[in-house]
Amino acid sequence: EAGNLAQELGWDAYAVGGFVRDILLGRPNLDIDLVVEGDGIAFASALVERLGGRIKAHKKFKTAVCILDDGRRVDVATARLEYYQYPAALPTVELSSIKMDLYRRDFTMNALALRLNPGKFGQLVDFFGAERDIKNKQIRVLHSLSFVEDPTRILRAVRFEQRFGFRIGGQTMRLVKNALQLNLFEKLSGSRITHELRLVMDEENPLNVVERMNDLGLLKAIHPLLKLTHERVRVLQELEKVFNWYKLLYLDDQADCWKLYFLGLTMGTKREELSKVADRLNFSRREERELLALRDQIGDALMRLMGWQEGKTPLSRLYSILTPIPLEGVLFLMARSRKESIRRNISQYLARLRYVSIDVSGDDLIEMGIPEGPVFTLILDKILAARVDGNVGSREEQLAMALR
Ligand code: ATP
Repeated sequence: EAGNLAQELGWDAYAVGGFVRDILLGRPNLDIDLVVEGDGIAFASALVERLGGRIKAHKKFKTAVCILDDGRRVDVATARLEYYQYPAALPTVELSSIKMDLYRRDFTMNALALRLNPGKFGQLVDFFGAERDIKNKQIRVLHSLSFVEDPTRILRAVRFEQRFGFRIGGQTMRLVKNALQLNLFEKLSGSRITHELRLVMDEENPLNVVERMNDLGLLKAIHPLLKLTHERVRVLQELEKVFNWYKLLYLDDQADCWKLYFLGLTMGTKREELSKVADRLNFSRREERELLALRDQIGDALMRLMGWQEGKTPLSRLYSILTPIPLEGVLFLMARSRKESIRRNISQYLARLRYVSIDVSGDDLIEMGIPEGPVFTLILDKILAARVDGNVGSREEQLAMALR
């Protein structure tokens, strides 16, 4: 449809980037990126008119996002003709605009285009040897200043390497080492690093990426306190397992997994040190406060769980330790605990205990003639604890307990 439309408007349209890469790799990818040699915004408007949907346009960048009624998302960019003035005697060269658009991209494998116009539909446009690199499972930059232009590409390279089972190419690896020697990361803003790190955490196996980053000296380059230790790796491994388990079971109740990884990566640091890392990553004051509080709560809970005895300590005790802690903290505790029994009980807490409720309210207590006051909380908490421990059943039993 996009190809027909482009033809009617007299332009050339291409599918580009990750979408094309994933076709060659046989992987699903629902985000479609298009480049139009013409007016991208006008093209996007016409496209949603035809397919149904709405657009959000960025006039400044001449790009638009189409949100189609069927839920698909199509990004449309504009490729302009650009003239390159070469020094001295060489003539001014007009590069085809799609080529310029692709040349600005991060790696050869992401610099592929697929023609969409009728008659040429499906033709691969490969200026930089991307098809060969994909075949050889190699990640290569397009030119030697690529990482100087944008050091976050190094993090992208490692992420793609682990996701696809690729390898950073030899020359590109030399450029990575060079970039590190030049301390290019120092100039990078905390927000950009954090953005890339969050993309890492959203990968299927973030730990592989984090370990590779550690081996290459990237973690250290972001902040010296982030380097991996055996204990951190162990907890991160457990976190990955716990988190995947949790995601699978509770699809609708998602935890903020980057917080977990951040806590894992900074485990064992002092308070001020954690603050320094948070500052480097440009966390907001609020995020930093929340992380510190979360860490304190986890430490506190770990202490209180120390005397835990399977079968002896009542579950209501676990309940009272865990309820004040945000979900991320509970998951972290589960990953952190070495005792199998504690892990099992925390999983029971997540599956069942945290949803336990009682059928008695303050109004019931008033009706029963109990004088209003702080004692209400005590009574209701006592009933809740009894419910958690399975010592009390029906509403009648709960009411009777209130009088005791
Ligand atoms: P994913 O599957 O993770 O979405 P993607 O390749 O689609 O992978 P995006 O981050 O959505 O990744 O970026 C879309 C395209 O924009 C990429 O294919 C790449 O060509 C280009 N791109 C993204 N980030 C950069 C960057 N830092 N430098 C150069 N090109 C980039």
